[in-house]
Amino acid sequence: MYQWVIIGGGIQGCTIAAHLLLSGKVNKNDLLIIDPFPEPLEKWKRLTQRVGMDYLRSPSVRHLHPDPYHLKSFAKTSDYAGGFKGYYKRPKLDMFNDHCMEIFEIAGLENCWETAWAESLDKNGNLWSITTSSNRKVVSKQVVLALGVNDQPYYPGWAEPLVKEAPDLISHVFSERGMEAFHGASPAAITGAGTTAVHLALKQAHHSSEPVYLIKRHPFRVKDFDSDPGWLGPKFLNQYERINSYQERRKVITKARNRGSVTQSLYSLLKRREAEGKIEIITDDIMTADVHEGKIKLQLKKQGKFSAGSLLLATGAASCLPGKGLVEEVIRKNQLPCAPCGFPVVSKELEWADGLFVSGALAELEIGPVARNIAGARKAAQRILERLEERLSERKSASYRS
Ligand SMILES: Cc1cc2nc3c(=O)[nH]c(=O)nc-3n(C[C@H](O)[C@H](O)[C@H](O)COP(=O)(O)OP(=O)(O)OC[C@H]3O[C@@H](n4cnc5c(N)ncnc54)[C@H](O)[C@@H]3O)c2cc1C
Repeated sequence: MYQWVIIGGGIQGCTIAAHLLLSGKVNKNDLLIIDPFPEPLEKWKRLTQRVGMDYLRSPSVRHLHPDPYHLKSFAKTSDYAGGFKGYYKRPKLDMFNDHCMEIFEIAGLENCWETAWAESLDKNGNLWSITTSSNRKVVSKQVVLALGVNDQPYYPGWAEPLVKEAPDLISHVFSERGMEAFHGASPAAITGAGTTAVHLALKQAHHSSEPVYLIKRHPFRVKDFDSDPGWLGPKFLNQYERINSYQERRKVITKARNRGSVTQSLYSLLKRREAEGKIEIITDDIMTADVHEGKIKLQLKKQGKFSAGSLLLATGAASCLPGKGLVEEVIRKNQLPCAPCGFPVVSKELEWADGLFVSGALAELEIGPVARNIAGARKAAQRILERLEERLSERKSASYRS
C-alpha cells in the first residue's frame, strides 16, 4: 500500500511528487506515479521538441523545485551558456529539462514509477484503489489526479474526417499519431495563432526550402504570458477567491487566459521570417477541407481555394474535462461535487473527496487562470503539502490525547 499515488507524470504530477519527497514528509517507498510513458515528463518533452521550442515562455523562477531560485543556482554550477533569455529570464529548454532530471535524481523519483494507464479509481473504506492497464491493483491512502490536457487535441469540425482519411497528410501537434505529416510534402501549412503554432511554423520554415504557410483565424494576440502575472498573487486572487459562484469563476478564468497568444520576441522573429519570404501568413477561416490526388484542398472563406502538401494543426486542447472517462466515472461513483462547467469543486487545499486531490485544469476553479502551467503546478504542490502538514499535526495531537 502507498501513502500517495499520483496519476500522471507530466509537469504537474512531477512537481507535486518533487515537493512531497523533498519536504522530507513523504518517503520514496510510499509514493508512486502512474503514467503511460516510461520516463517522467515524456509528453512535455515530446511536445516541446516537436514544435522546436528552445526557450520556455515562463520566467526563471517557474520550475519543479520548491526553492524558486534553484534553477538559477543550477545554471551557475552547471555553467550553461545562454541559460536564460531576455528581460524575464526565460530558461533554455534543455537546461530546464536537465534541471528536472537532477531534481528527480535527488528526490529518488525513478524508483517511484509505474508505466501504465490508470483505468479506474475506486474508494474502499478510507483507501483508494486504482486498476492499471497492466492489470495491477494499486492501493493508496491519498491520490492526486494530475492528468493534463495535452492528450486531448482539439480538432476543428472540418478537420475531423480528414484526420481519419489521410493521417499521413494531416496531424495535430498534441497527437501521437500521424507523425508522417510533420515531414510531408510541400507546401507545408500550419493552422493556429498561438505560441505552439508560431514555434512550429518557425521550425518547419527552418527545414524547408519553400515557404511555409501559417493559416490563422484572428489577428495575432501579442502577450508576454498566458495570463497577467497579477494572477499569481493577491493582486487578482484576493478578489477571485471572494467569488462564490463557480459560473462566475469560470467566466473570469476564460476572460483572463490569453488563449492563442504569442510573446513579443516570438512575434518579431515570425515577422522577420515573413519578410525573408520563408513564412507566409494567411488570416482567414478554413471552411472545408478534403484530399485530392495526395494534396489537401482547403476552402478559405475570403481567399478561396488553397492547396497544401501537409497540414499541421496547432489548435490546442479540447475544452472538455481532463482524463474524461476515468474522471467521469469517479464523479459518478462517488457523487463528487462539480461546477456547472463540469469541473471539480474542491477545497482550498485541492481535496475533492477525503484523500483525493487534483491539479492542473482540474484545480482551475480554485487556483485560477494559471492552474494549467508551471506556476499552477507549484501552487498545487504547495497546497497539497499544506494539507499533508495539517493531517500530520492532527494525527500528532490525536496521539497526545490518547
Ligand atoms: C508546446 C508547449 C509549451 C509550453 N510552454 C510552457 C512554458 O514555457 N511555461 C509554462 O508554465 N507552461 C508551458 N506550457 C503549458 C503547460 O505547462 C504544459 O502543457 C505542461 O506539460 C502541463 O503539464 P501536465 O502535467 O498538466 O500535462 P502533461 O505534461 O501532458 O502530463 C500529463 C501526463 O498524464 C498522463 N495521463 C493522462 N491520463 C492518464 C491516466 N489515466 N493514467 C496515467 N497517466 C495519465 C499523460 O499521458 C501525461 O503523461 C506549454 C505547453 C505546450 C504544449
